[in-house]
Amino acid sequence: MSASEPVVRTAWPSARPGPSRLLRRAGVGLASGLVASAALVVTLRLGFTAIAVAAAVGIAHGVWFCFPRRAYLDSMMTAAALAIPLWSLMSVVLFPVLSGQHPMWTAAGMRALVPHLVGWVLFGAALGLAAQAASDAADRWLGPEPIPVPPPEPQKRRILVLGGGFAGVETAVSLERVFGADRSIVITLVSDTNALLFTPMLAEVAGSSLEPTHISSPIRTTLRRTQVVRGPVTRVDLAAKRVVVACDPPVTLAYDQLVLALGAVTNHLGLVNVARHTLGFKSLREAMRIRNQVIDAFERAEVETDPERRRELLTFVVAGGGFAGVELAGALNDFARGMLADFPDLRPEELAIVLVHPGDRILPELSPQLAAYALERMAARGVTFRLGERVADARQGAFVLKSGEEIRGHTLVWTAGSTPHPILKTLPLDRSKRGAVVVDEHLAVPGQEGVWAAGDCAAIVDARTKEPCPPTAQFALREARTLAENIHAALTGGQPKAFHFDALGALCVVGHHTACAELRVPFTRRNVRFSGLLAWLMWRSIYVAKLPGLERKVRVLSDWTLELFFPRDIVQTIDLSEPARLQGPAAADKPPPYAA
Ligand SMILES: Cc1cc2nc3c(=O)[nH]c(=O)nc-3n(C[C@H](O)[C@H](O)[C@H](O)COP(=O)(O)OP(=O)(O)OC[C@H]3O[C@@H](n4cnc5c(N)ncnc54)[C@H](O)[C@@H]3O)c2cc1C
Repeated sequence: MSASEPVVRTAWPSARPGPSRLLRRAGVGLASGLVASAALVVTLRLGFTAIAVAAAVGIAHGVWFCFPRRAYLDSMMTAAALAIPLWSLMSVVLFPVLSGQHPMWTAAGMRALVPHLVGWVLFGAALGLAAQAASDAADRWLGPEPIPVPPPEPQKRRILVLGGGFAGVETAVSLERVFGADRSIVITLVSDTNALLFTPMLAEVAGSSLEPTHISSPIRTTLRRTQVVRGPVTRVDLAAKRVVVACDPPVTLAYDQLVLALGAVTNHLGLVNVARHTLGFKSLREAMRIRNQVIDAFERAEVETDPERRRELLTFVVAGGGFAGVELAGALNDFARGMLADFPDLRPEELAIVLVHPGDRILPELSPQLAAYALERMAARGVTFRLGERVADARQGAFVLKSGEEIRGHTLVWTAGSTPHPILKTLPLDRSKRGAVVVDEHLAVPGQEGVWAAGDCAAIVDARTKEPCPPTAQFALREARTLAENIHAALTGGQPKAFHFDALGALCVVGHHTACAELRVPFTRRNVRFSGLLAWLMWRSIYVAKLPGLERKVRVLSDWTLELFFPRDIVQTIDLSEPARLQGPAAADKPPPYAA
């Protein structure tokens, strides 16, 4: 898309500006009506009335119809076709009524008026020919009919949103709302996926509770008037106000306002071997791969005769004891233990789900009591914990902890670190220690007019509490709404709003119909804490309500209902037999090179 210039359409080139369009057409119509009135005078025998009627019909005809040059036959046929309605209206109804009689719409009456019909047909044909001749003459003497000049289109202002996650999609939705039908605003969203991924339910995809597509909402369906460009952004040129998207073929997008909402990527903390031998847990593809790798490991363990190797295949390690890691470990534990029923040769004691976490307790975001409850429930269901430990190295079939202990295992999922999108490093912008773009309280990037940021890639300080905003979907959504309103204010001369949001609380599923909840009591600074089945039911109700789109909600509810009656699906949908696939992220997952 190139910079769109205002379109200025020139008027018809005319040396002599003729009379106004309407007046000119009325004149053509009057002249042709008077000429054609002869046919009515002769056939209707109404004298002056016929002339007056012919003049009125001529004016209406002249104003209403267009006469392309020299289209005599066309104009004659068109006007002659008016004869029947004119005859019905005038001769059959109006003239008799005006002379104090009944309308002549009986069969006998109409038969008596057939000569009138002939008169109207002759009048119509003559009117068409005369109007065409008068119009051609007017063209010759007065010049072509002037075409009204449309008002110049307003200068378009282009808002470009980078990222199709919570922050990006919500920004576009809110921009559509605040700008309404204002066509001078062009909104474009770029995303390397065509759907918004509902990450809170990602563990359920890895654990085979939910179909992968059921937690993704197509961006194009969500947005009404935003242009969606699918492809990875590879270059942002702030000086030239342009962004390069590496789709096929690549496109360069110009913007007036830019929203950075590219989220975060997995950070392996510089551990090269760990990066090579682990699976990530951020995208749909990664969740599907985890699910498939678990199923694949079971299939291979079933035919493995070496007990050590079998145990290794059935050991699944999760690095990181935050929300994502705990929810994943809980989901994998339920999935794997449920699968044992289909693999009669495998024994429960051969299966191990290990969660490695550097802190002295899991779930640092929750209160110590809830974290302890979560650990106790998960341990009771068979999850093993290695607290105060880190995964420091990895090789095929083994993961080494910082203490030197080695865990023989087949699968390691890394949830222990994330960092704002790497493309931000190529931009001349202030970044926080975490690597996020620093924004002011209005979510604008200081010193860069028209550049904004929200979500996981932005370092935002709450305007009221002065606390840094956490990288969560809950915050990303609210930031996006404020950001859209502030862009609206910037373009319409309004007052920008400072960002403030009181977190609603946190919910974490720890597996097997159990969750922990810590929710803010409205209008107070107090939290209520509860756990177990009630918290799990609340988790499901809240998140299904937050899932965008009615259709997705119905799909997820039907998955959950089916799960009550049937075992989880163990169909392997990705073939992992290729050794390269087990060696780490496939080439397709590698980020494109980002240009400065
Ligand atoms: C497993 C998991 C569970 C979570 N659970 C919760 C929860 O329960 N509650 C909660 O509040 N938060 C949760 N979060 C955190 C939440 O997902 C993030 O905070 C939120 O997604 C941030 O939104 P965002 O728009 O900034 O980033 P994202 O949602 O990550 O969106 C970034 C978007 O940019 C796109 N993108 C990336 N690179 C490019 C590129 N080069 N070109 C074009 N597009 C690109 C991505 O495809 C993506 O669509 C969870 C996260 C994970 C991983």
